[in-house]
Amino acid sequence: MSTIVAAKNEDFDTKVPLLIIGAGAAGFCAALTAREAGVDVVVVERDAAPSGSTALSAGLIPAAGTRFQRAKGIHDSPQLFAADIERKAKGEADPAVVNAVAEEAGPLVEWLADRHGFPFEVVDNFNYPGHSALRMHGLPSRTGRELIDRLRSAAELNDIVVLTRSIAERPMADAEGRIIGVQIAHPDGTQERIGCEALILACSGFGGNPDLIHRHIPDMANAIYFGHTGNRGDAIIWGGALDAQLAHLGAYQGHGSVAMPHNILISWAVVMQGGFQVNRDGRRFSDETRGYSEQAAEVLRQREGIAWDVFDARIAAIARQFEDFQAAERAGAIVTSDTIENLAEAMRVPVAAFVAEWKGVEKLKLVGGQDHYGRTFLADQLCRPPYHAVKVTGALFHTQGGLAVDSTGRVKRKDGTGFPNLFAAGGAAAGVSGSTAAGYLSGNGLLTATVLGRLAGKAAARQLIS
Ligand SMILES: Cc1cc2nc3c(=O)[nH]c(=O)nc-3n(C[C@H](O)[C@H](O)[C@H](O)COP(=O)(O)OP(=O)(O)OC[C@H]3O[C@@H](n4cnc5c(N)ncnc54)[C@H](O)[C@@H]3O)c2cc1C
Repeated sequence: MSTIVAAKNEDFDTKVPLLIIGAGAAGFCAALTAREAGVDVVVVERDAAPSGSTALSAGLIPAAGTRFQRAKGIHDSPQLFAADIERKAKGEADPAVVNAVAEEAGPLVEWLADRHGFPFEVVDNFNYPGHSALRMHGLPSRTGRELIDRLRSAAELNDIVVLTRSIAERPMADAEGRIIGVQIAHPDGTQERIGCEALILACSGFGGNPDLIHRHIPDMANAIYFGHTGNRGDAIIWGGALDAQLAHLGAYQGHGSVAMPHNILISWAVVMQGGFQVNRDGRRFSDETRGYSEQAAEVLRQREGIAWDVFDARIAAIARQFEDFQAAERAGAIVTSDTIENLAEAMRVPVAAFVAEWKGVEKLKLVGGQDHYGRTFLADQLCRPPYHAVKVTGALFHTQGGLAVDSTGRVKRKDGTGFPNLFAAGGAAAGVSGSTAAGYLSGNGLLTATVLGRLAGKAAARQLIS
């Protein structure tokens, strides 16, 4: 277990101006920003090849008022975006951080595109729950793998040193809480003490630490963890030892649509375009359009923790833009039938109950009606054969609670004042989703990784060169 200890400056093997722990989206965005400002940066990463939860994601970053949106005639603004975040978080997210990330997300996406050549485009054939404009920006493959590969290449081109296979074990601070260095463990068993003038924690959340999940998010203690297993909560463990303010540790991003037993993410496009979920009894059980995050626990509450996503060929064509969906098709996860009765049989759910649910949904679509869960259906989303279904479960994707930060990513003490030279971004920092899974607006994960990463990189650089 890591503790924070005092150390003398002369105890260090090497010294660098800015040290960053974690080479995911947050760490790389912070490093690229600080490097651009002329600061030498070293990133410490436990894995041999940086990937993190970033590589497992769909790589979609929400941003408002971008030129990519304008080119498609999409009207949006940071104010509208901030209001959407706060509405989903039920007003529990820190408004200063919400406004900062909503304001800076557009410039972040354009910076990655213009300075580093990321070929972003707006996803314009379906919208995610809770967003009042089309604002998800993705790369051609719609994968986080492409996002992290491009970030890693940009870091190489910009001479950013990444110490891979190196685990940050213990930050060291002086009596005033100023970080003076970090102890690193290398795979050959050797240890190194790197001194620094500023530290950015970008080592994400605690999804990979079952004890912490059990303590803070008991609802997900038995769920599949779909994120990066190397994210073991080091930031909050160190933050606790430093007496930092921790916020919303019960918040998380879940997902109610992970194909079983294949473990492949099925895009929520299948729901947003007019599909729905039934349980093993062939019955619907919720308003699926509230969001995929809260739907994880909803699905896990069903018999055997299983549900079926049901949709049609038009919806499948939209979902196919995601490589994951194509992989699910190749793996045989998607069942297909020309009649809903045969589909029910293939799903092994009671035919009469399923057909009744299906007819009820399609009838509501015809009149643009609302069901008793509060979901409104749209007439242009009628389903036609062939029909599809995929068996899914609920999963934990990543944790959203963490170190409380200000709008520049500076970590706060319990009394609300900032640490002199400690910053956090991405999963290491408290997100903008409030205190529950239901507060997670799609994209909040990469939003606070990329944008807070950039803001923390800027603030640290400003401090180091002033
Ligand atoms: C399946 C899936 C789909 C998702 N889809 C989306 C999406 O489309 N849009 C979205 O906004 N969000 C999405 N998310 C969430 C998103 O992936 C995360 O919020 C985001 O990647 C977090 O970035 P990060 O840089 O903070 O963490 P990570 O990318 O996880 O990087 C943290 C890094 O720190 C390293 N590390 C940890 N501890 C140490 C240590 N002590 N020493 C050295 N290194 C350490 C880890 O090895 C890791 O490489 C998804 C998540 C999952 C799991």
